[in-house]
Amino acid sequence: MEIRNIAIIAHVDHGKTTLVDQLLRQSGTFRDNQHVAERAMDSNDLERERGITILAKCTSVEWKGVRINIIDTPGHADFGGEVERILNMVDGAIVLVDAAEGALPQTKFVVGKALARGIRPIVVVNKVDRQDARPDEVHTEVFDLFAALGADDHQLDFPMLYASGRQGWADTTLEGPRKDLSALYDLVLSHVPAPNLDTEAPFAMVASIMEYDNFLGRVLTGRVEQGRARLNMPVRVLRADGTVVETGRLTKLLTFRGLERVSVEEVGTGDIIAVAGLSEATIPETIASPEVTAALPAIPVDPPTLTMT
Ligand code: GDP
Repeated sequence: MEIRNIAIIAHVDHGKTTLVDQLLRQSGTFRDNQHVAERAMDSNDLERERGITILAKCTSVEWKGVRINIIDTPGHADFGGEVERILNMVDGAIVLVDAAEGALPQTKFVVGKALARGIRPIVVVNKVDRQDARPDEVHTEVFDLFAALGADDHQLDFPMLYASGRQGWADTTLEGPRKDLSALYDLVLSHVPAPNLDTEAPFAMVASIMEYDNFLGRVLTGRVEQGRARLNMPVRVLRADGTVVETGRLTKLLTFRGLERVSVEEVGTGDIIAVAGLSEATIPETIASPEVTAALPAIPVDPPTLTMT
């Protein structure tokens, strides 16, 4: 299956949750639309019950036969390179900005990192239904922000959609009848490159997000950087200097479908997976087939960042 991996960058309250909910509904990721909110809540409760302390915020929707993995970024400056590790898993980003509030300082950090990585974001000016919306001014503000953050010409030439996540539509203009979010899905498919990775090489991923689950133990999320992951495959965990931290098997292989994680037997190159079965591995180590001898490039963790409770 074709894949697109994108980050979503937004200031808190600018409508990220509402928009992602609508993306889930309209892509039919849930057959019974009315259950989206309940299921979102259910899964949170379930995770709370099961003692997952850090939520890897990955969502995935399918559109025209393409799986779009959407990874949430922290809406504030991080201290351990978490934002960079997330951005290393994606080839595109949606920068969501409230049409009344405009671009707020907290998003600058993450936007700056995305631009520095060469990502060409899609800008969504959201909540244009607000009485106090000033969409065109906000468009200019975002342009100025990108320029101030050192965006190149391609990045400054960003595609932009007006949207109301609450009303469930996105469009290139503010005129005319409101439809749905198809303009946004289509833009993701056309503007964001598919992951360009080696499908033939032996399996390797970088552990980029770590969580703890009462049942599964350590759960490590990352992108399959090369090859394919198979359930129960033997793996080694490598540190940047090539030291083998641990040898084991991928006893659980999870991919993201909608808001849920689904257990699977095999995952292809470029997809985002969560694996369990390793007890020593941590971020940002490489988890790979035994024939892989060097760790993949990764963003180191600046201590003390990992809050495990
Ligand atoms: P998040 O913090 O970015 O995830 O934002 P939420 O999706 O939780 O939305 C924050 C607030 O903005 C909530 O009160 C939403 O109902 C409201 N909101 C979200 N999308 C829209 C929109 O398109 N238009 C308007 N007017 N309000 C919205």
